[in-house]
Amino acid sequence: GTIFQSTRSTTTRGRVILFPLPVQGHLSPMFQLANILHAQGFKIIIIHTEYNSPNHSNHPHFTFKTIADGGFTEIRNNMKKSDPAFSITYLNEHCADSFTDCLAGLLAEPDEPPVACLITDAEYYFAQEIADSLKVPRLVSWACTIVSVLVYRDLSFFYEKGYFNLTNKDSEYEALVPEYPLLKVKDVVKTTTTPDRMGKYLTKVMKQVKASSGIIWNSFKEPEEAILETLGRDFPIPRFTLGPLQKYLPTSTSGIIFEQDRTFFSWLDAQAPKSVIYVSFGTLASITESEFQEVAYALRNIGLPFLWVVRPRMVEGSEWLESLPEKFLEEVAGRGRIVKWCPQKEVLTHEATGCFWTHSGWNSTLESVCEGVPMICSPCFVGQPIIARYINDVWKIGILLENGLAREEIERALKRIMLDKEGEEIRERVMLLKKEVNISFDEGGSSRQSLKNLVDYISKF
Ligand code: UDP
Repeated sequence: GTIFQSTRSTTTRGRVILFPLPVQGHLSPMFQLANILHAQGFKIIIIHTEYNSPNHSNHPHFTFKTIADGGFTEIRNNMKKSDPAFSITYLNEHCADSFTDCLAGLLAEPDEPPVACLITDAEYYFAQEIADSLKVPRLVSWACTIVSVLVYRDLSFFYEKGYFNLTNKDSEYEALVPEYPLLKVKDVVKTTTTPDRMGKYLTKVMKQVKASSGIIWNSFKEPEEAILETLGRDFPIPRFTLGPLQKYLPTSTSGIIFEQDRTFFSWLDAQAPKSVIYVSFGTLASITESEFQEVAYALRNIGLPFLWVVRPRMVEGSEWLESLPEKFLEEVAGRGRIVKWCPQKEVLTHEATGCFWTHSGWNSTLESVCEGVPMICSPCFVGQPIIARYINDVWKIGILLENGLAREEIERALKRIMLDKEGEEIRERVMLLKKEVNISFDEGGSSRQSLKNLVDYISKF
């Protein structure tokens, strides 16, 4: 059982409506939150876009409402690669009418308990005014590390400072950001290739976050302690730091969109403890053909077992594995496995997993910390370069590939983590952070207390 089921009440405390962004990294934590609130006695309604509709039958205890999203599915299918700033702006500009109708309909339903609040991803800035006009309190959920939100808040400022014109030929590119001395300028530059558009939508996001009734962070106090005070000054509204959400419930909700491959588990079971390199770049990041080949050569050359998730169309211009180096599959036969998708939490829990070579998505990072697995970081965009900087320089629980995907640098990093003494030290630090997570969930711990505060707060609306 989970620590929270014991407090489940028999009478409903009201309805909570959740509206997640339709990508895996946002759906997963929002569904975890929904399950947690359900266990606390709330009735759960999930509003979602037509695009990436979650599988309703996996969650029979929730009510689902689908809303029109301006035909985003077709637009996304025609995009060569993920463009977060464009996609988020598009959804904000095309969901308002259908969302208003849906919310008003829910509020007018007879014989239903009152709506306690609405929880949307922070990026859905359009929802605040609608919630206000229908007199529903809106809380926002951030599915990223707190420090990246501070950088997002200042993105337009960095744009005006000219950061996004810098390249690796400029000395300032490698310099520290004066306002955030733990970050390098290049980390900020790498968050987006469309800084103008991104800055504009983030300005709207921040304004509506400040107008909301509270913030829910999928993070926990210990790694973010240094900036929690700054955050309080900038966002003087109730804040709940109750993550990692993936810790609360044993069930994995990561199969919301994708089919999971389980056939490799018998192979993984046969590998020595901590011997396998697990490689996955998440659900959105894409890489070029030559980067893909560098990854392959590094995995071939290092000679260790690996499990590599290659999403269909993750390699630009390829359907799946067409651009692997010749003879690669023969050369690594028996030692390496390539899958399209896997149940990541289970792989990270597996005793054969030795390190996680990741794109540094926030969910992946938290999952790795929860299992005490050291990381190699190949960030792509949005919050990932910032998370990777913290993993490498601040928390020291992994190694950042500073110069992208180049086989020699990758091989050196893999060796340092998997074979050198340094790797043991990194592992000890990530195990310490894992302990901090567990402590934050104990009675009196920060995440547990924060959840209690959130439930009290929502119950009083
Ligand atoms: N994931 C998974 N199997 C895979 C790859 C990813 O279950 O093969 C899950 C992973 O556990 C995580 C989510 O997908 O919960 C990815 O979220 P993250 O924030 O790490 O990255 P994003 O995909 O949003 O860039």
